[in-house]
Amino acid sequence: MALLDLKPGCECCDAGLLPASSEARICTYECTYCATYADEMGNICKNCGGSLVPRPIRPAAHLADRPASTIRVPCSRSRVGNGLNIELWGQT
Ligand SMILES: [Zn+2]
Ligand SMILES: [Zn+2]
Repeated sequence: MALLDLKPGCECCDAGLLPASSEARICTYECTYCATYADEMGNICKNCGGSLVPRPIRPAAHLADRPASTIRVPCSRSRVGNGLNIELWGQT
């Protein structure tokens, strides 16, 4: 079964998006943005032109077996380097 790729950050501004974050927005291709940027784009994905919707939250019990992705998607608009904060995420 295909699994939704819970990307760790916004593709535009590189804001961190935890798996439980209600701020995450995704398109049908799992392009991932923060709520702020999704609003700015009118909830239309700049990559594919599709609609952006709130990302479903995976229950914590399932994250143990199906962890969120830690692979950041590079973006030309990103202002900071990729991967710097990955170790900090997922530790609660
Ligand atoms: Zn963003
Ligand atoms: Zn897209």
